[in-house]
Amino acid sequence: MIFKCVNCGGNVIYSPEKAGMYCPYCDSDESGEKAQGAGFTCISCGAPLEVEEFTSACKCKYCGSYSILEERVEGEFTPHLVLPFKVGKKQAKEKIVEQFKKKRFIPSDFLSEAKMEKMEGNYVPFFMYDYDCKYHYEGIGKKVRVWRSGNTEYTETSLYKVERNMDVDFAGIPVDASKGMKDDMMDLLEPYDYQALEQFQDKYLSGFLSERYNMGSEELSIRAREKAKKDAESMIKSTLTAYQSVKTESDEANLSLKDTKYSLLPVWSYLYEYGGKKYEFHLNGQTGKLVGEPPISTKKVVAYSTTTFLGVFAILNFLRMILEVI
Ligand SMILES: [Zn+2]
Ligand SMILES: [Zn+2]
Repeated sequence: MIFKCVNCGGNVIYSPEKAGMYCPYCDSDESGEKAQGAGFTCISCGAPLEVEEFTSACKCKYCGSYSILEERVEGEFTPHLVLPFKVGKKQAKEKIVEQFKKKRFIPSDFLSEAKMEKMEGNYVPFFMYDYDCKYHYEGIGKKVRVWRSGNTEYTETSLYKVERNMDVDFAGIPVDASKGMKDDMMDLLEPYDYQALEQFQDKYLSGFLSERYNMGSEELSIRAREKAKKDAESMIKSTLTAYQSVKTESDEANLSLKDTKYSLLPVWSYLYEYGGKKYEFHLNGQTGKLVGEPPISTKKVVAYSTTTFLGVFAILNFLRMILEVI
């Protein structure tokens, strides 16, 4: 299915800038109607669509129209919620340029318009879990007192048994349900502002790529539980500031699942190949937060470091910068 313009027949897409449907061909708003097709062919031009096992929205390689595969956003695959893109393609590109334009050793075509234009917005499938959590913590807190009398320095170390109980409700712990997206990168894209979540409507997918969930919510709940436990632990630790250090003796989180929601979250992805290696950059489509590891052009590095020893420092600085970007 595609959204077709009633004025000109072009492909109507959801525009993050306008926060509504828009036809880029005749520059009109809210002019789309659904056009149904059969099988995996593009309704605009008739070409076969490249559809993989989990694809639920894709772009035609030939005419650039965006199709939505209805059977993959229906029934058990209907998302409960969607977080519409707020950051448009232009702004996403600007964010990446801004981040990398001043960095040395980046391959020269990394920020080229031709490469960056290939960037696509993805609605990534997530499950969001609500848990009631009862957390019990036991540890040993250490207090150290140091004082001086004459020429002697005294140190007194006191150990305290620390015990805490906490009841906490976690709402909407997100776990990505896409095998293709790296879990650590998806985690780093957080946080999203979930207040902006909306009831799912297929029009939001027009203009973007999407997948239905690749794994079930039960299977993925292991990661949600780990996140809940980790968050509970850091909440407890934040109440233990009176001690210089606290050693955990035991902790236990009893989690009961209250609700699970299947949601689509917006991510801009820039895939770049350099020296036979693939590099991925992902940008939170709501907040603009960027994660990824930039490629280093070895040619440039060598050219620079043979001229001056400073090059070595520059490389070290650059590596540190990579870590900061991530
Ligand atoms: Zn039009
Ligand atoms: Zn087409």
